[in-house]
Amino acid sequence: MEQTFALIKPRAFHENLTGPILNLFNTAGFKIGAIKSWWLSDREARQLYGIHQGKPFYEDLLTYMISGPIVVMVLEKDHAVADLRKLVGNTDPQKAEAGTVRKLFGLNARQNAVHASDSPENAEKESALFFAQMEKYEPRGISFGKVHRKEES
Ligand code: ADP
Repeated sequence: MEQTFALIKPRAFHENLTGPILNLFNTAGFKIGAIKSWWLSDREARQLYGIHQGKPFYEDLLTYMISGPIVVMVLEKDHAVADLRKLVGNTDPQKAEAGTVRKLFGLNARQNAVHASDSPENAEKESALFFAQMEKYEPRGISFGKVHRKEES
């Protein structure tokens, strides 16, 4: 089971697209390992997107990403990183394949509904920005209605 990191961007969250986007993730076989909403500060947005510093779209991207709350999550599945990138689609929704999240819910190259990590290393780094180790768990071994303990890992 691999973990990846995903983020629902401000416009998609504001337009109440969180439910439909999570539904696509679930239908594609992803399990939610951790989730919460967050409002990025300027400093946090620079940490998340620092790799793009100097690119022509960088400052506008930061302004957009701090414009309202987002939803951040850890998703789990075999081949989670590659499979989520495929499901999310091209950066530019106009170039994204039919059925992808960005084709369905993206507006333009900046306001493209979601972010998904592009490698297992970045997934680890990005999820560590938002989630403490104790906030993440694998949804395994839970039997509802019975007393149970979380497995130690
Ligand atoms: P992706 O999110 O598909 O991995 P990048 O890592 O290249 O794409 O870019 C990060 C984010 O920066 C994009 O999701 C998008 O919000 C923004 N971005 C990228 N390219 C452009 C562009 N040409 N114009 C405006 N915003 C852009």
